[in-house]
Amino acid sequence: MTRFYQVTERMETAAAAAHRMLSDIRLIAVSKKQPLERIRALAAEGQQAFGENYVDEAVAKIDELHDLGLEWHFIGPIQSNKTLSLAEHFDWVQSVDRLKIIRRLDQQRPADRPPLKVLLQVNLDGESQKAGCSTDDLAELAQAVDQSQNLELRGLMAIPAPREDPQAQEQIFSALRQHFDDLAARYPSVDTLSAGMSADLEAAIAAGSTMIRVGTDLFGPRPG
Ligand SMILES: *Cc1c(COP(=O)(O)O)cnc(C)c1O
Repeated sequence: MTRFYQVTERMETAAAAAHRMLSDIRLIAVSKKQPLERIRALAAEGQQAFGENYVDEAVAKIDELHDLGLEWHFIGPIQSNKTLSLAEHFDWVQSVDRLKIIRRLDQQRPADRPPLKVLLQVNLDGESQKAGCSTDDLAELAQAVDQSQNLELRGLMAIPAPREDPQAQEQIFSALRQHFDDLAARYPSVDTLSAGMSADLEAAIAAGSTMIRVGTDLFGPRPG
């Protein structure tokens, strides 16, 4: 049984338990630090969407794998001097967390490409995590993306810190879901809640995540 098959089975079981359809949950394969052959192999199994964390590494891979017509998601911390590469090469940027980045991505998105799909990364853990905006900033950032000509506001992304206690984990995912529902009520373009990784995809799917990002359990441990 391949890892891809195993992850798909886990998604299916979690979806069924939550009375949800598997087709409402997208799988993003997180390919950071994975070599091209592994990405090609997974694409051959039918995986379409890939997530990367490091801009230069990602751009090289996107160029090399151009023939496969894959969909690329940026999920790493964003330095403002790298936004041009993001705007030129990616289909989605999931880790947008400040106004300066929104303005630059909007200005730099090439006119011949469809609007860049944007998720706002929200930090629900306070001090414990550096990337992501605070929940207080969500409304302002969402409005800025929504008003940008070359960006499309699609939803939220989060990386909740692991919690031992399942109830605490449930609480954080349900808070996230509440913020997502509020945003979706305000903006018709919002349809994506990106949460859940190898270790917590079941909890995320139970809470209503529509996009999970899995690296280790799809590819095995990251090399080096
Ligand atoms: C690395 C990474 C993942 C995948 O994590 P795994 O534990 O390997 O599944 C998902 N999301 C983000 C933002 C990541 O940086």
